[in-house]
Amino acid sequence: MRLSQMLWVTLREDPAEAELPSHKLLLRAGYIRRVGSGLYVYLPLMWRVLQKISAIVREEMNATGAQECLLTQLQPAELWQESGRWDTYTKAEGIMFALTDRANREVGLGPTHEEVITAIARETIRSYRQLPQHLYQIQTKFRDEIRPRFGLMRGREFIMKDGYSFHSSESSLKETYYEMDRAYRKMFDRCGLKFRAVEADSGAIGGSGSQEFMVLAEAGEDDILFTEDSSYAANVEKAVSIPPDTIPSHFDKFEKVHTPKAGTIESVCKMLKCDPTQVVKQVLYQVVYDNGTTVLVLVSIRGDRDVNEVKLQNELTKLASNYGGKAVINLQVADAESQQKWAHSKLPLGYISPRLEDTYIDKSASISPKFLRLADRTVEALQNFVTGADEADYHVVGANWAKDFPLPTVVNLDKAKAGDRAVHDPSQILQTARGIEVGHIFQLGTKYSQAMKATFTNEQGEELPLVMGCYGLGVSRLAQAAVEQSHDKDGIIWNKAIAPYHVIVTVPNVGDAKQRSVGESLYISLSAAGVEVLLDDRDERAGVKFKDADLVGIPYRVVTGKAIADGKVEIVNRATKAATLVEIGSVVEYLKNELA
Ligand code: ATP
Ligand code: MG
Repeated sequence: MRLSQMLWVTLREDPAEAELPSHKLLLRAGYIRRVGSGLYVYLPLMWRVLQKISAIVREEMNATGAQECLLTQLQPAELWQESGRWDTYTKAEGIMFALTDRANREVGLGPTHEEVITAIARETIRSYRQLPQHLYQIQTKFRDEIRPRFGLMRGREFIMKDGYSFHSSESSLKETYYEMDRAYRKMFDRCGLKFRAVEADSGAIGGSGSQEFMVLAEAGEDDILFTEDSSYAANVEKAVSIPPDTIPSHFDKFEKVHTPKAGTIESVCKMLKCDPTQVVKQVLYQVVYDNGTTVLVLVSIRGDRDVNEVKLQNELTKLASNYGGKAVINLQVADAESQQKWAHSKLPLGYISPRLEDTYIDKSASISPKFLRLADRTVEALQNFVTGADEADYHVVGANWAKDFPLPTVVNLDKAKAGDRAVHDPSQILQTARGIEVGHIFQLGTKYSQAMKATFTNEQGEELPLVMGCYGLGVSRLAQAAVEQSHDKDGIIWNKAIAPYHVIVTVPNVGDAKQRSVGESLYISLSAAGVEVLLDDRDERAGVKFKDADLVGIPYRVVTGKAIADGKVEIVNRATKAATLVEIGSVVEYLKNELA
């Protein structure tokens, strides 16, 4: 492609709308343009990158025997009503764009495709003899994200590869799942990414296991915990650990003590000369279920630890039926503002005990009249602990479960953190890193097939629900993650596997006939040799062209400058900035070698 003929506009200044380096660079280098919140146009250079990534994904997926197809983006509401997700996705969570067609039928724009594929499987799969099956597609997804941000990282319209597999048994599912794990690693390796596979929370989707693939980058939205020996890595949402040991309490008598203005763990520990591991702190949450019921949740956890809200949400989902609901639609710390809606009288915040009276809750049809009391495992074995006295400016010390406070239901809600010991090998200490989630593979089980009655007949003639897996990969997010991981102060540094072009031939001065003709002939011979090449034949200053070449990040730059007088051109490696003089006649061979 000749740059003189290409619609290519670069920006000198950082666009105000962008925070992340990768977002700024893709905008500045003319890869993408924003047309609305979370909506980006992929300009020709970007589209080439996305095609390259898609080609790698296709090759690796096809190599496993998975079959490419294309499902509909418009999805009838009935399918989602069958799976039970319509109301949650369109109303409660509101992630799904929904509309009504001219015949007054409700349809949604696909945020994901479990329902559609399960409906197809239900109609086409009859017998175990047809199994296993694995279908995938590469397609635009729509999600009405609450906070679209960071360019392609969290868009409202984005490209995803999603695959769905169907099996007659859990063991067959596991085979495909591990095969996908290997295929994903290959794809990310081929794209030149530094990544980590981590154990992930399967949350409301259910199923027996899931794994995320994280591109390592400071700007990532996800926290990862891992051990030095790499034997354990997990998303912090899912991670488990052994918290530091408890320091034994020096209180031996249960009593109420005056602790004025000591409503935080730090201040009460200072005042009472005790360690945070001896304190039982209460964190108050408010959960709203899909049937509109609000429940106040009092979580007791050790003073030095924090609640993992994903684990809490999972526990609360399990308990939903106790309150007549099915799903959690909102979970938040019950702050002062939310307390105005349900508190009968002012709560002794900072001094709450595990036994806080239910009379604090106002009587209302939509609010459960009792606190749901949960204790994290970290407090179960504590003895002679310190906790609130349910009265401002007072604590109790020397407290014990059973004798002084009933022990609430014990669950695991502890948020693992860096410095904790690993569960499988306590000699390993957890470390932290940040990542960008580019892929997520799930063992779904029979959640959708059961709900939608997608069954098959096994060898014994029994009718059973299909066992399912699903495998997502964010193609457009991956493209930007690659830039986030590989750039410098001058611009993008593409890996040659996913770069929009391999080579840019820069003619410093198009007014110089010799320079132009060498540039032209290299452009033609490189193209003929199958090298993807851009020719910078624009009537611009050399400085501008060099800056643009660095910005756009093409792996090799060929400069038809002064050296042509000696029959040579300069070839610059974008990543290392190393420049080499190469005979004009050897350029094709040199670059073919470099690109091989
Ligand atoms: P996240 O936790 O980041 O919201 P998710 O768990 O909702 O993502 P999945 O439903 O597992 O994502 O989707 C599969 C993949 O699609 C993700 O791993 C991610 O790479 C990509 N993806 C998800 N949401 C977006 C988005 N809004 N913009 C771009 N890519 C996305
Ligand atoms: Mg995910």
